[in-house]
Amino acid sequence: MTIAYCTNDAIKKNVDNIRQAINAGPNKHKAYDKLAYIVDTFGPRMWASPRMALAVDYLYNQIQNWEATKNGLVEVRLEKLDEISTWVRGSEQLILKSPRKRPQKLGMIGLGLIVPGNIKDGEVVVVRNWSELDEKGKANKIKGKIVCYNVPWTTYDDLKFYRQQGPDRASAYGAIAVLLRSVASFSIYSPHTGNVRYSGNFTKIPAAAITVEDAEMLQRMQDRGQKITVDLELNNEMKASESHNIIAEIKGQQHPEQIILMGGHFDSWDTGSQTGAMDDGAGTLVTLEALKVVADLGIRPLRTLRWIAWSGEEMGLPNNGAQHYVKKHGDEDHVVALENDVGQLTAIGFGFSGKLQTSRMVRQLIMNYIPDLSVVNENDGSGVDTKPLGDKGVPLMRNIYKDPNDDYYFKYHHSAGDTMNILNPDEMDSNVFAISSMMYIIADNPERLPK
Ligand SMILES: [Zn+2]
Repeated sequence: MTIAYCTNDAIKKNVDNIRQAINAGPNKHKAYDKLAYIVDTFGPRMWASPRMALAVDYLYNQIQNWEATKNGLVEVRLEKLDEISTWVRGSEQLILKSPRKRPQKLGMIGLGLIVPGNIKDGEVVVVRNWSELDEKGKANKIKGKIVCYNVPWTTYDDLKFYRQQGPDRASAYGAIAVLLRSVASFSIYSPHTGNVRYSGNFTKIPAAAITVEDAEMLQRMQDRGQKITVDLELNNEMKASESHNIIAEIKGQQHPEQIILMGGHFDSWDTGSQTGAMDDGAGTLVTLEALKVVADLGIRPLRTLRWIAWSGEEMGLPNNGAQHYVKKHGDEDHVVALENDVGQLTAIGFGFSGKLQTSRMVRQLIMNYIPDLSVVNENDGSGVDTKPLGDKGVPLMRNIYKDPNDDYYFKYHHSAGDTMNILNPDEMDSNVFAISSMMYIIADNPERLPK
């Protein structure tokens, strides 16, 4: 298919320069190298934790020291969130008592935001899905027991509800705790955490993720009629804290009030020594490098190109970075908002959520200037941090890859396996280019995207 729209030579040249700077120039592998330094130096970045605060300060200082910032092309600032409370993990353990001949520690991690708990010799009932839970609940086989959800992998969107709503739905039948088979597409005995959402309608009960392998083992024990008991200890607390979004931008030369927003969330879980490399340190550093390439080339587009490191996506607690951003900036004129938070395999194009006429123009711009990124998936542009802007009518985008069901991403998501080893500098660069060129083109095209 060919479309005969005229291209703009200046934009074409800038896109070529962006590509060159990333593929063979001074920006090559920089997103990966800078991320590796942060991961190696600061470790996991639980929301509003002292470690995260150090990493935020470091990143902010780095941007302040860019040549383009000293020259006045880039402006950077910290935006302090309003009053927040964050969830802080304490010591945790799960010990299998019966039917083991000797007590056995099992691999586990408490789910995020759970209440503390200390259960001795709790009896475990395994269910494979909601209907088994309802069946056993109605037969009064759940009351006073620990429910283990052993739900095999299909897609994250199907399974995340077992993590988020599983404690409430088990509590409704009188359960005292939940063990969750990790929501993961593959396992080598790795527990995967993530947040729980209590509705407030039921007694809040504690919950921990266990490995796929141990969930299957508990299932076998139950199927052969063995009584399963465990000790479960989960310590944690809510603590008042503080945190900041980081914002850096190149103000538009003709329409500074029109904003092209891109970013990732800088907070992470704490499952292993490098957790938060992929989710979402990588998305944060890739989008930051996307801004830096444009800045290093000395380009000031017609509209404002703004980058954000959102604070507090994983816990999703009140007054987090996305909510604060919308409260403070939601009434500004956002042309588009892009979130990069589903991994960094080789980019093939974009997901888009918004009006058809807007998506048509995005496609035109891609065909004109970056035809190698021609995949545009409709109704697939939303992210957790951009959704509040989408709700206000802002078109949303995200970078996408060939990864059916996001199986690659969910092997490592929220587990100790989320490390620098699962990232690749060339793949990260392909996303730096996709985002940098796309956002630059939207910012500098004479005609703005339709509202
Ligand atoms: Zn994330």
